[in-house]
Amino acid sequence: MAHAYDPTNIFARILRGEIPNKTVLETPHTLAFHDIAPQAPDHILVIPKGAYATFDHFCAEASEAELVDFHRTAARICDMLGASLASGGPGYRAITNAGDHGGQEVPHYHLHILAGRPLGPMLA
Ligand code: IMP
Repeated sequence: MAHAYDPTNIFARILRGEIPNKTVLETPHTLAFHDIAPQAPDHILVIPKGAYATFDHFCAEASEAELVDFHRTAARICDMLGASLASGGPGYRAITNAGDHGGQEVPHYHLHILAGRPLGPMLA
């Protein structure tokens, strides 16, 4: 059974074209765009186009095509930023927040990709 998903969340509105975004890359199943309040020189959000609230919902419910497309797109972003280790870059951080304890603000699954400076250890 599909989980409850709030279609009024801001990323759903971005996907419907109701709110502008600074797109970096778009594929059949995935959209990547600049975070409005960047926490690093490069801060990109990667979101599936499907209605999934969290990482765990996405992994449980998405098709293999969506899962592959999402992760390949995220890796491509790291490459485009010059951060990918596979291309000799200095690295990046890819994180997701889920639910209350994860501090998730927008209830549409998203991966934060942060790069462009040494990010130090994860705190809190
Ligand atoms: P969360 O806390 O993991 O849910 O992160 C939500 C992220 O969405 C934050 O980093 C916000 O800065 C970002 N954000 C919120 N609204 C927008 C928007 O309209 N465009 C781009 N990023 C947004």
